[in-house]
Amino acid sequence: MASVAAPLKWRYAGLGLCEKEWFMKNSRSCPVCNTGSDKAKLFIDKNINLAKLSSFSFASRKEPEYMCHRLVQCPNCDLVYADQPPGEEELAHAYHAADYDSSEEANDAAKAYILAMRPTLDKLARRQSALEIGTGTGIFLECLSREGFTELVGVEPSSAAIAAAPEYRRAWIREGMFEKKDFAPGSFDLICCFMTMEHVRDPEMVASAAFHLLRPGGAFVTVTHDYRSFVNRLLGRRSPIIDIEHMQLFSERSVRYLFESAGYADVTVSAFANTYSLRYWMRLAPLPRGVKSAASSFAAALGMDNVKLKINVGNLTTSGFKHV
Ligand SMILES: [Zn+2]
Repeated sequence: MASVAAPLKWRYAGLGLCEKEWFMKNSRSCPVCNTGSDKAKLFIDKNINLAKLSSFSFASRKEPEYMCHRLVQCPNCDLVYADQPPGEEELAHAYHAADYDSSEEANDAAKAYILAMRPTLDKLARRQSALEIGTGTGIFLECLSREGFTELVGVEPSSAAIAAAPEYRRAWIREGMFEKKDFAPGSFDLICCFMTMEHVRDPEMVASAAFHLLRPGGAFVTVTHDYRSFVNRLLGRRSPIIDIEHMQLFSERSVRYLFESAGYADVTVSAFANTYSLRYWMRLAPLPRGVKSAASSFAAALGMDNVKLKINVGNLTTSGFKHV
C-alpha cells in the first residue's frame, strides 16, 4: 500500500522544522467564529501513531483507527477543532493520493441523504444546477439527476475515487479541492457537502463560498457528525468521529452558527438515521477486530450480513437558503 502520509510524517517527525516551530506556524483560531484558541478548552489530546498512518487513513470508508489531532472546544460557537492542523498543502496531497474504498455503502448513504433533504428539495426555487463538494464517485449527483437536476458538477480531490466512478458520471466530476474562483457567482440552485465539512481546513470559507455561488432561492445542505449526540458521547474516544481526517467536529449549535454567520436564512438542523448493511455496521463497531470478524462470519453464515439496518449514529443534516 502506497503511503500518502509522507508529508505528514515528514512534518511530524520534525525534520526540517522542529515540532514546536511547526505547530506554532500552523496553529489556528476557531475556523467558524474566529475566537482565539487560547480561549478554547481541551476536548481530546493528540493521538497519532506514525507507523500506522497509511493511504487508507484518508479514505472515506475504513476501519476506525481512533487517531486524531489535538482537538479543542470553542466556548463561543461550540465547535470542536484541531488548533494545530496540517497545512492546506499536506491535506490536498493526502486526499489526492488517498485510496478509495468504493462500495455499496456510498449508494446507501446517497439514498439516505436524498430522503433527509426532501423538505429542502421541495422548497427550492428551481431544480436545474447542482454542485457537490466532495462528490466521491458522483453517486449522489446521479440521485439529483433523478430529481430533475440537469446541470451537475462534483468536486473531488481523490483521483482513486474518480477512477472508480462509472464513465458517464466522470464527466460531471472535477478533480481537485473546492475553490470558489472555479465557478460563476450565482450559478447553482443547490450546493451539497456531505461528510466533508469536517475535513476541510476552512469550513467558514466553504459555507461563504457556497452562499456566493448560489442563485437567490437556492440552498446549501450539509451532513456532519454531531459530537454531542448520544452515541458519540457514549463511545467517547472510541467513536469513529475521533479520526485523524477530522479538522473540526460540529454540534447542532456550531453548525447553525456557521450557516447563519455565512448569511443563510431558514436554517434547519435535524438528526437523521443512516441505513447500512449489518456487515458495514459491524465494520464500524468499536469492538476488537477478532470479535468483529467472528460476529461477521456468524451473521454471514445466517445469511444476515446483507440485512439493511437504519440507525441514528449521531449525524446532522443542515440546510440554509439564500433569500430571493
Ligand atoms: Zn467558534
